[in-house]
Parts: sequence; C-alpha cells; structure tokens
Amino acid sequence: MKFRAAVLRKSGLPRPYADSRPLAIETVEIPPPAFGEVVVAIKAASLCHSDLSVVNGDRAWPMPIVPGHEAAGVVEEIGPGVHSVKSGDHVALIFLTQCGECEHCIEGRPSLCARGTQANREGRLLTGGPRLRLDGQAVYHHMGLSAFAEFALVSEKSVVKIPADLSFVDASLFGCAVMCGAGTALYSAGIRPGQTVAVFGLGGVGLSAVLGAVTAGAGRIIAIDPSEAKLALARSLGATDCVNAGNTSAVEAVRELAHGGVDHAIDASSSLEGFGNAFEATRRGGCTVTTSLTHPSQKFSFPVARIVAEARTIKGSYIGTCVPGRDIPAFIQLHRQGRMPVDKLVTGTLGLDRINEAFDDLAEAKVVRQVIIF
Ligand SMILES: [Zn+2]
Ligand SMILES: [Zn+2]
Repeated sequence: MKFRAAVLRKSGLPRPYADSRPLAIETVEIPPPAFGEVVVAIKAASLCHSDLSVVNGDRAWPMPIVPGHEAAGVVEEIGPGVHSVKSGDHVALIFLTQCGECEHCIEGRPSLCARGTQANREGRLLTGGPRLRLDGQAVYHHMGLSAFAEFALVSEKSVVKIPADLSFVDASLFGCAVMCGAGTALYSAGIRPGQTVAVFGLGGVGLSAVLGAVTAGAGRIIAIDPSEAKLALARSLGATDCVNAGNTSAVEAVRELAHGGVDHAIDASSSLEGFGNAFEATRRGGCTVTTSLTHPSQKFSFPVARIVAEARTIKGSYIGTCVPGRDIPAFIQLHRQGRMPVDKLVTGTLGLDRINEAFDDLAEAKVVRQVIIF
C-alpha cells in the first residue's frame, strides 16, 4: 500500500522551518499487516512538543523517520491473529505499545513497558520492522506510530477503540496530551480533593493537567505561563488563579497565593527553569512532578538535605502513569459529559502540506494543539 507521509531525513535544520523544510511530503509504502498488526487510516494527528524534539534534534532518532504520535483514525485492515479490533473500528493511537507480558505490564504500569520502550528506541514496531519504505529504503517509525501520514501500520497493541461518533480531532488528543497531563494530576501526583496545585507551562499537556486537577477536586489551581491567551484558556478550563511568568517572579507569586507553597507543583514547561520554579513553589512536605522532556544533556542540582528535612517528593511522570485501555475510555466519558473539555485545547486544523509552518508556530509557543486532518 502506498500513501503520503511527512518524512524527516535530518533533524536540527535551522528555523524558520517554513524555509528549511525539514519535513518532506513523500509517497511511502507498507507491506500488508503481519501477525498482530493493523493498518489505520489516520483521520487526525496533532502536533506535540515531542514531535518538535524529533525535528529540532533534542531527542535522537534513527533517520529517515515519519514523526507523529498523537492521532486517531479508522482501522483499514487487520493482520492475522488480531482480535481486539476489526476493519471500520474507530481508534485512538497510543505511543508506547504495551506488550502485556513484561514485568511492568504485569505490574499494571504499561507506560513503562520494556519491550515497547525498546521498540520505540529502535524506531520499529513491537512486532518488528521498520516496515515503512521510501524508494526501497527503510524509513523508521516514531513511537510505533508515525502518524503524520495518511495511513499507519501499527501493532494491535498500539490502538484503543473509541466511540464512532466522537470527533477525530478531539479523539486525537487523548493518546498523548490528555493522558500525559490529566494522568499526571490524577495518578502521578495523586491530587486529593481540596489540595493546592500549580501547573507550570500551559501547552497541551499543562492545560490537560489543569483539567486533571479539576477532575481530582483540587481546591486551588494556579496556572503559570508567559502567554496571556494561554492563561485565559487555563482559567476557562478551571484554573482558579493565573500567574504571568513573564511579568513577575512566578515562584514568589505562587507562594503568596498558596500561603507558602502548593501541595503539588506540576512542571509541563519543557524547561529546566520551569522545573526549578515548580520545585521552589512546592511547599514543605509537598510533591513536585515533571512531565517535561528536556534535552537529555540537561541536569539539575539541589541540596539533598532539603529533600530530607523538608520531606519533599520529586517525581517523573511518563504518560501520566496511565493505563491506556482503562483511561482513554474513562477520559472520553468525562469529555462527553462536559467535565473534561479537551476540544478547547485545539488551536486550529491544517492539511499535511502545512506541517513545516505548523512546527514554526509550535516552536514559537504561539499555539496549543494544531491538528492535521486527512
Ligand atoms: Zn506527545
Ligand atoms: Zn510490556
């Protein structure tokens, strides 16, 4: 099967991407689905900071690669041995395939799946590969998905069935932004009703963390970002207080609002400064959680004695500690009841041909979620 896909041959090209054009729309080819594989016709795929990290080179991947890891579509074809979905089913894609057999999967923590992580690192599917071809040459898969394309050949374990009447644009957000953000608030931080929360950085993940904090029943939710538009959006999603990080010391402002510090500070800023601010804005005995994938070379230091004497917790949260098969349907249900309005995260939609320009807008933090529609 042949179809159009956004192929990245080299990362780290200079901005603006509208001029350097790191992503080329090419015709790629896949074989028929093998055992345990499905072909999904992609209907909507959104741009996430992790895709930008592939383009700008912050995260190293084998090349050439087709990025895209936050998407929804329709099952086009199933391979032998596939029982969980059939042709015509609507699905959300998940970017860490859960093998169901490793120690992490068995423990109920599929966001750490060892075999899925290994396959992702190698740019192939859990079932093998790479399966994508361009002029006879191998093209690598991003996160087992490669969703910036008209079709994706993926493991059966990379899809979760969703209701057929859910908008694909909304559905695309659940696999990354919503699980990473809402899951961080609900599961990684474990916010209890009435607790105070600060969210640093209001991209798709940070705003989803605000939604998760609302769902958890947080008492005070302080949103921090340099963009007034994103602060206003956070307020409309349920943030009780907003701090413009550009105008004032974010740490001092949060401490004042929360009488010394918050119970949970969530860092979704993708910057060391944001993580440091989240740490300092956390009260004694509180928990600082980061979902930010900064450059792997970046390090942070703090006095260990403070962790002890102030009984602090510092946590990393990957995919919000979610169990996709459990949590995507649950979050969709909340969305449909109007209690998790993820549709508000969508800044706009575009065609695949505009993908380089869209990465410029993302790099300049002008947008929350831009969704490519097919
Ligand atoms: Zn993502
Ligand atoms: Zn596993």
